[in-house]
Amino acid sequence: MAYKIGTKCIQSGYTPKNGEARILPIYQSTTFKYESSEQMGNLFDLKESGYFYTRLQNPTNDAVAAKIADLEGGVAAMLTSSGQAASFFAVLNICSSGDHLISSSTIYGGTYNLFAVTLKRFGIDVTFVHPDATEKELEACFRENTKAVFAESIANPALVVLDFEKFSKVAHAHGVPLIVDNTFPTPINCRPFEHGADIVIHSTTKYMDGHAATVGGVIVDSGNFDWGAHAEKFPGLCEPDPSYHGIRYVDSFGKGAYITKATVQLMRDLGAIQSPNNAFLLNLGLETLALRMERHCSNALKVAEYLAKSSKVAWVNYPSLKNSKYYDKAMRYMPDGTCGVLTFGVNGGREAATKFMDSLRLASIVTHVADARTCVLHPASTTHRQLTDEQLLKAGIGPDLMRFSVGIEDVDDIIVDIEQALNRI
Ligand SMILES: *Cc1c(COP(=O)(O)O)cnc(C)c1O
Repeated sequence: MAYKIGTKCIQSGYTPKNGEARILPIYQSTTFKYESSEQMGNLFDLKESGYFYTRLQNPTNDAVAAKIADLEGGVAAMLTSSGQAASFFAVLNICSSGDHLISSSTIYGGTYNLFAVTLKRFGIDVTFVHPDATEKELEACFRENTKAVFAESIANPALVVLDFEKFSKVAHAHGVPLIVDNTFPTPINCRPFEHGADIVIHSTTKYMDGHAATVGGVIVDSGNFDWGAHAEKFPGLCEPDPSYHGIRYVDSFGKGAYITKATVQLMRDLGAIQSPNNAFLLNLGLETLALRMERHCSNALKVAEYLAKSSKVAWVNYPSLKNSKYYDKAMRYMPDGTCGVLTFGVNGGREAATKFMDSLRLASIVTHVADARTCVLHPASTTHRQLTDEQLLKAGIGPDLMRFSVGIEDVDDIIVDIEQALNRI
């Protein structure tokens, strides 16, 4: 039953049996009832699978996670309370104090802070490298204790398209997985597992929900990385876990090892679960993901082409524009479209940018991106304001950069709004 992705958006994850609810039910319950204490005990020992407490697993969440795993072409997935929790858990599942991570420098500001400041406090050291670095420069970042490489498929907001082949090749040559944040293109436009990535994470807060209704995240495992072949690097997956009577995840769960460990250790102990109610809303968003991405991308391309022609605009960055530095990579890895987000600068720098933003009527100024409504943000003074000028530049963000998230309204109205605001600067 190999359905196309637009069908998977609707049909995957939940198949009701005779007489059951047609729509995925919300299991708004903290706990689940059993007839015998022995059965419950087996669940606690991971000898049987089943639901017992929503912090570990919930049927609504599992159905949505299964849908996303199917969209990405992975074997298993786990929902988290936010995209930040997904990034954190994806790394923490294989890195401990004394370990080292290599990350693209052009990543979401929150992730940058998590890696540069908070992971450091956990004793995990992170080296940042520009995604356009040569193979040799990438190679030079590796250390004995490197455990993973992290990057965004399309960087927020630098809009760098990742060279998946280069990154996965170098990661695998050093026996570590490539973790990719695929929030911006979504699996509709790009499936990182087809290009060598091993783990995918998302902020489902963005296009997947798509309506700015719920904060959430997800971790998806391709099942492709052979942890056992590098057992000395990944003791957490390959050596006995004393908190489950010495279970070895790679032996007991095979391709499900990584997600099982993340669930039964990290969720158990840290508890950043998505509420079943939010998972239900996320699922509604996922049903229209393919439709919405198509519209986001066609609208964004028209807006980018309009901006590129305007005499008031100093520069436009959108990977689907033919003159973009990343056009070739975009065509290679996401030929049907990239995302609805573009960046640009107006003539007159920061001051003109402020005037432009304040003059918009349809597009709103919000700390959000990638939802149905067109919105705009100035990263240097908001999401990325903790970064120094040097870090900003490394993250590919100039002081005049505006991030414009093109919604799914009628594109004519979006362009009329931009035009009148440009006329005011
Ligand atoms: C928003 C975002 C995050 C963080 O997600 P939250 O759901 O806000 O915690 C991570 N990565 C990218 C690319 C994002 O845009």
